[in-house]
Amino acid sequence: MNNKMKRHVIELVRNVVNEYASTTIPTFDEICSGLELKVVEDLLPNGKEGMYAKKIIFIDSRMKNEERKRFTQFHEVTHYLIERDGDLFSELHEYTVNQEHGFKKTLETLCNVGAAEFLMPSKEFIKLYNEKGFNVQLIPFAAKHFRSSTIAATIQLAQVAPNRCIAVICEKGLIPNNKTSSNTSLLATENQSRYKPKLHVVYSASSPSANRWLAKYTVIPDDHIVNQAYSKFTMLEGESEIPFPGWKERCTCEALYKRNRVYALFHLTPPPNPNQMSLI
Ligand SMILES: [Zn+2]
Repeated sequence: MNNKMKRHVIELVRNVVNEYASTTIPTFDEICSGLELKVVEDLLPNGKEGMYAKKIIFIDSRMKNEERKRFTQFHEVTHYLIERDGDLFSELHEYTVNQEHGFKKTLETLCNVGAAEFLMPSKEFIKLYNEKGFNVQLIPFAAKHFRSSTIAATIQLAQVAPNRCIAVICEKGLIPNNKTSSNTSLLATENQSRYKPKLHVVYSASSPSANRWLAKYTVIPDDHIVNQAYSKFTMLEGESEIPFPGWKERCTCEALYKRNRVYALFHLTPPPNPNQMSLI
């Protein structure tokens, strides 16, 4: 992901917040009225939660989860901001012209970055980790503090991280057939193991300097510290391998079990310790 574009999106969001919001964390209504965007809540097709077209934001009226709704609302506002900014739009076209991850996927990632910045302004997030320390427990803490989802908190934590790190959310479940490796043996025993739920990555975000992340459905090995945290319902920290499919890399990993999920941070470079941070 291109960091220049991410910074550009964050700048667009900050400008809008400065102009139209009454506090550092804006409400959806004040931003929409400032930008003169119309909002329609209705049943949306194909399980979509939100859509944007021609200065109208559509939000699915069945969405009950308040945190998820807020994230979707600001995701759609960011669609408008990117469309309105001609430079970023053409940059995006240029960037994705020869890319395996196409235009749409990159655009969606940028809209998530924008939504996270609306809900959890970088400045406020940095203030929080200067007080609390930069560690995996910050994910659920920030989610509660900013009344946002832990997915949004994970995106923003990675975005403002003081070190090179990869943040992941893991859940146990079945891996869709087309996501298992192509050289999977057809032996019956192997085949059956495919249908066993496995702890895997459901969401991953990396700090701007890390340039790598773990793909969705990456399986966490049974003996990995993240898997141990899951089976012991606890928090663990230690040296471990990042489960990249292609190569091996060891680093410090923190894994926190919470409500059937594990939140984990892989520190490619050490995070500053809290005593040093307070001097910055
Ligand atoms: Zn979108």
